[in-house]
Order: sequence, then structure tokens, then C-alpha cells
Amino acid sequence: MSPTPARITAVDTYDIRFPTSRELDGSDAMNPDPDYSAAYVVLRTDAGDGHEGHGFTFTIGRGNDVQVAAIDALRPHVLGRDVEELCADPGVVSRDLIGDSQLRWLGPEKGLMHMAIGAVVNAVWDLAAKRARKPLWQFLADAEPEWLVSQIDFRYLTDALTPGEALGLLRRGREGSHERAADLLRRGFPAYTTSPGWLGYDDEKLTRLAAQAVADGFTQIKLKVGADLADDVRRCRVARSVVGPGVRMAVDANQRWDVDEAITWTQALAEFDPYWIEEPTSPDDVLGHAAIRKAVAPVKVATGEHVQNRIVFKQLLQAGAIDVLQIDAARVGGVNENLAILLLAAKFGMPVCPHAGGVGLCELVQHLSMFDYVALSGTTEDRVIEYVDHLHEHFLEPVVIREGHYQAPTAPGFSAAMRPESIAEYTYPGGAFWAADLAQREHAQQKGTAA
Ligand SMILES: [Mg+2]
Repeated sequence: MSPTPARITAVDTYDIRFPTSRELDGSDAMNPDPDYSAAYVVLRTDAGDGHEGHGFTFTIGRGNDVQVAAIDALRPHVLGRDVEELCADPGVVSRDLIGDSQLRWLGPEKGLMHMAIGAVVNAVWDLAAKRARKPLWQFLADAEPEWLVSQIDFRYLTDALTPGEALGLLRRGREGSHERAADLLRRGFPAYTTSPGWLGYDDEKLTRLAAQAVADGFTQIKLKVGADLADDVRRCRVARSVVGPGVRMAVDANQRWDVDEAITWTQALAEFDPYWIEEPTSPDDVLGHAAIRKAVAPVKVATGEHVQNRIVFKQLLQAGAIDVLQIDAARVGGVNENLAILLLAAKFGMPVCPHAGGVGLCELVQHLSMFDYVALSGTTEDRVIEYVDHLHEHFLEPVVIREGHYQAPTAPGFSAAMRPESIAEYTYPGGAFWAADLAQREHAQQKGTAA
């Protein structure tokens, strides 16, 4: 046994960008040309056990350097911490990061700094689960309810959810958890796919990918909408005719509309039986969502990928503004805050259908849904995790989809670690890919100027 406790010796950050905009992968009504990126952090220790904590937040290109700078600003809070203590109680570092009084001014608990906190906190959970030799979903599902409650910041929540209620929900959630864990390992967790529905894809590609989705066993697909109504009507008709009436078809406007426009546009697509309308308007507009929900029923209203914290989720639930709650593993303050949001959803009986895709969001969020199924909500009914077939090859433990289900990860940790060679190639602007790309562009520009 080592006489001195192991410490965090480095908090290394990376600006990693993938040139996805060139194929229009990920294109939607608000984000026509995303370069999927990760502001990535690695916690290193001197424990000598080979374990590192990996975490990241997802951005879509420009500004990823700003996001990395925000993570860098948190470094002094993490460097030198006792690894054992850190992993035994990630809630401490979560509270310290959120509580930095000067950095808090930049939020509070929203946007750039909060996403940076999420990246660091998730890296801590990755490290903790690895040291416990469990995949994160199982690490959470095996944890004592009292300890899980201690991980949550109930400030601003107690009018909707008290620690006592949370404890009751977690204790109830444990009943039958072993059977559900066995079921999860056998069957996996239901997924839906957004791969056919990017706005930049033509009808031929939409048709081909929608047919492929059904053949692959998916029972729900999603289409991007909101740029042009006539186009949307045509694309929804094409997709519905390909998948048939038995497959759920969600639509996603990525915040494109004002409230009234959201209502008329969604009503215009109603003949194609959309299952939910996602992000119809600003993620901050709680009352707007409530008005839309009232007007477009039975089409469900879904949001969450840009909901900035647990407090806005609380209000969406209190106001009856949504039918489907979409957590994102890397938007809020990490696992601790997502536990709070999952508990809020459980309290309100709200199905959680996580946002995923991007870079590594599938890898992360599957753990949260699997924990929710095994040890909290106890059901997968009307619950599906988004799946997008992009960029998984860059991860050491990529998600596995079989028959439209996420297979439960068995490797220890949060499935967050990217391949070292991918990090080296796609680091911006110095990695091999970008260095060559920028040199080529400069060359082309010089030729243009000369001519
Ligand atoms: Mg979306």
C-alpha cells in the first residue's frame, strides 16, 4: 500500500473537431453545417493503477476552443485532489465547481461554464466507476439510495422534490433491480434512430436510410423539420410511406419556431402521425411549450437537449409543458445533476428519452437510461434513447446496437474514452487532419489571390 494518498496530477484538455459538415451529417433547421466537436478533458493520477477519468462536452465547431478554456478555468479545483476521496464522493467536487463564486457569475448554472463543469464531473464519475470495476450504469444501480441522494444538489428543487421523496423513489426503484439488470444485459435498452432524417439529405437518401432503419429493428425514427413547410410535408410523406403506420416517427424543429408558428406547422404535419415534436421553440420558454402542448395534442411535445439545468426541467414538469423529457449527458452539470433530473422525471411520471448523437453522447447517456430502468423508473415503456450512427469508431468502447436496442456496456467506466490516435488526428488546429486541411485552404487562397 502506498504511504501517501494518490492525487490528481493533471487535468489535460483537448479541442477535438470532426469535419462532419462536409457530408451534411447532423444538419437541421438551425444548425446547417455542424462540425461535431468535443471539448475533452482527461484526469490523470499517480495511483499507478492505469486509470484515468475521461469527460467531454459536445459542441458543433467554432467555439470549441472557448469551451476548452472554460474547462481550463476549473483546473485549480481538481488538481491535487485525493483520488480516493474524490471518487468516494463526486458530489463534493460538483458542489465546489458550481460554487466557485467568481465563475458562477458567468452562469449561474447555465451555458459554457456549466457545460465545462459537466465535462469535469463526468470525468470524475468515469474514474470512480473504473476504480470500482463497473460500468457506470451498474455503479449507480448498485449504490445505496442514501448515498445517491447525498450526490444531489436539492437547492431550488424542494418545492417539487425533497430529499425524502427522492430517497423513497430510489428505495422503490431498487425492488426487482436484479431481475431488471439481468433483462437489460439480455435485451438491451430500446433505441430510435435519427440517421435517416437530417435536413440536408435528399429524398433518395431519406428513403434508403428509413427502410434500413426498419430492417435494422428500430421501431422509431426521427426527421428534422422546420426550414420549409412544403419540403417537410413531402419528406414526412416519403418517410411515412417507407416505414408504414406501425413505426413511430418523431419530428424535430431544433428551436426554429415562435409559439404560434410551432402550433400551425405541427398541425400541418399531423396527417403523418408524428409521435412527438421536439424542440418546437426556445428551450427557455416554459410557458411557450405548455401552450404548444395544449394545442398540438395528441402529438407529444419533447425537449431537453438544450435545457440548461435542473431548475428549468423542474418548471417544464410543473407547468405541464412536455410529454417527453430529453436529458443530455453533457449539457448540464454532469451525472449529479442528471440524477436530480431523472428523479424529477420519476416523481412526475415522465418518460425520459435522452438526446444523443453528436460526438460520444450515445456512449455517455446510455448509462443514465440504463440506471434509470434498473434502479429508478423500473420500466422501458415509451422510453427510447436516440441513436445516430456517427463517429463511434473514435471511442475505445463504442456503443453496440442490436435489433434496435443499445446493448448494456460491461467495460468499467462511462464509455467516455476516445482513441488516442483519433485525438491526435482531429485535435484542432494542430492535429494531422486539420494541419493538412488548413494548409490546403491557405494554398488555395494564395492561388486565388495570385489569380
Ligand atoms: Mg434534437
